[in-house]
Amino acid sequence: MKIRYAFICLVVLIFLVTGCGVVRTSPFGETSLIFIPTSQEVALGRQLAKEIEKREKLCKDPVINEYVASIGKKIAAVCGRRDITYKYKVIESDELNAFALPGGWIYVYTGLLKALKNEAQLAFVLAHETGHVVGRHAIRRLQLIYGINFLLSLTLGGKNLGPAEKEVIKVLYSLVVNGYTRKEELEADAMGAYYTGKAGWNPVASVETIKILDSLMKFKPSGVTELFMDHPTNQKRIVNLNRWISNFPREWLKNPFYEDRYKDNVLRRLKIENSKHRKRDNSSRSKSFEKFSRAS
Ligand SMILES: [Zn+2]
Repeated sequence: MKIRYAFICLVVLIFLVTGCGVVRTSPFGETSLIFIPTSQEVALGRQLAKEIEKREKLCKDPVINEYVASIGKKIAAVCGRRDITYKYKVIESDELNAFALPGGWIYVYTGLLKALKNEAQLAFVLAHETGHVVGRHAIRRLQLIYGINFLLSLTLGGKNLGPAEKEVIKVLYSLVVNGYTRKEELEADAMGAYYTGKAGWNPVASVETIKILDSLMKFKPSGVTELFMDHPTNQKRIVNLNRWISNFPREWLKNPFYEDRYKDNVLRRLKIENSKHRKRDNSSRSKSFEKFSRAS
């Protein structure tokens, strides 16, 4: 009895000190027990973001970056979690990918941007990833794997990480890149479509996006990434999305998709960037041919 009492006191104390405890993790009323304070979640996310940005090449086009960030900002403004600052960034890579880190770092790859057709689809991709952050999906998994005390004991933010910290960051990376459970993916889809509609885009873009991903998966099965995980099946995702959309306010179905804005701010610029790369490649190839012919 004494132990039980002590445990209840500890839970209450943690709740009072850190603001953790029962947290609403979706706009549809679901709650979860979260014991990792937001400050520790943000420290974990920041540490992993640093590692990722060392390894990956961030997009240098200011128009694309600002455009993606502005769409993200509108999603963040309507999402169910306001205790963190969301950051939406673009990674230059042909991978068809997007992922979210705890604490609100969200990355989308230029490979995926090229595959999308309108602004509403981009909004859904960013909203789906935002949904993982609102749902605390990564943090909940870490709590299960390591336990609360261990996670609270991590020292983050310093120059050199200890072995325990490095291990958690590695596991976290694999979690966010390889996708979540079936239930979490369906939840992120539902939140994604909801935030897309609430922020002023047509939520039907969510179904369009899954259809695009599905058609691309047939040609690029090796490109299976967070947003592409075939669990649940894409068919199930579409059924789930249509069910949610049928319950959203009817006027959301009149919201625009903004195809032209997406073309101007993303597709045309990526094409220009691509042709620049091709020219650069050709010129370096012709230079090396020049050198080779001179040497011979
Ligand atoms: Zn996901």
